[in-house]
Amino acid sequence: MSDAEVRNVIIIGSGPAGLTAAIYAARANLKPLCIEGFNAGGLVPGGQLMYTTEVENYPGFPEKVTGQELMQRFRDQAEHQGTEIITGDVTKVDLSKRPFEVWAEDVEGNKPHFKAKTIIIATGARANYLGLDSEEKLKNKGVSACAVCDGAFFRNEPVVVVGGGDTAMEEAHYLTGLCSSVTLIHRRDEFRASKSMQDRVKANPKIKILYSHAVDEVLGVAEDKVTGVRVKNLKNGETNVVPCSAMFVAIGHTPLADLFQGQIDLHDNGYIKTIPGTTQTSVSGCFAAGDVQDWTFRQAVTAAGSGCMAALEAERWLAANGGH
Ligand code: NDP
Repeated sequence: MSDAEVRNVIIIGSGPAGLTAAIYAARANLKPLCIEGFNAGGLVPGGQLMYTTEVENYPGFPEKVTGQELMQRFRDQAEHQGTEIITGDVTKVDLSKRPFEVWAEDVEGNKPHFKAKTIIIATGARANYLGLDSEEKLKNKGVSACAVCDGAFFRNEPVVVVGGGDTAMEEAHYLTGLCSSVTLIHRRDEFRASKSMQDRVKANPKIKILYSHAVDEVLGVAEDKVTGVRVKNLKNGETNVVPCSAMFVAIGHTPLADLFQGQIDLHDNGYIKTIPGTTQTSVSGCFAAGDVQDWTFRQAVTAAGSGCMAALEAERWLAANGGH
């Protein structure tokens, strides 16, 4: 198909939301184009699931499945249903014109340009990390940004959680149901989290809180698995080692929405605004699904669900606006 042709729907992103949207749009005969980034926002194609080890909570996979295999299956299903997938980072979009326009750049430096009647944004979010070398080396070997995904691999073992927001509280509390102990490490002497979440954590005897401490090294690089963290007391500079089998980093996520800034409405925290109960953004015909518009649930299955909604809404939009 040449650049000049106007697509019914372009899906930007190839995580669970984007590929589910692709499956539904392809089945509705919309001939979707899905643009999977190869390095967009520092994420590989397939999104955050590619960084997890085994996925035990995606329905339909009682025997466990790796994040990579699950995403490959999503991708195979999307292609099998008739989705065209190209690999390229989207560099620019123009949502002020009809049809919308999308510019991308692939790994060879080619710069394809597309036009589309509808767009589904499914660019996701990435977890923030502390930025330590040792942390990077031990990702998936005990360093995780998702307790719900990876906590069960550390049953009856001591773990630490870093952060002071609602996510850190929720993860620390959740992990006490699985792990022998949880040390919650926060850089200040008060939490940012809501009072009720804080109270629950403070009342939990399995959680030890280290206020005004920062992790300055994750230990275990030589062993190829986390064996502990070195923490620094930010008030007196003293360092200590907290032995543990895993470090859960809960210091926030960054939605990959920069491309759309100034073109559609975003929340103050950078996530894309959608009309509640729908995936409709502030621009008619432009939909957003998955983690780029959801900072609360952030699960593969909820992202997939909203991807399905986006495809159905795009189909209805096309039907109401002259068909496809
Ligand atoms: P937040 O941005 O609320 O909190 C991030 C925490 O990480 C802060 O305590 C911050 O410290 C700390 N932090 C940030 N950067 C660093 C760093 N480099 N080193 C050490 N610590 C760092 O993110 P959350 O993911 O907790 O929450 C995001 C949103 O989702 C919030 O609006 C939250 O209310 C919501 N949420 C709601 C839930 C619920 O209602 N059930 C559950 C989970 C999230 P500091 O405080 O010093 O800035």
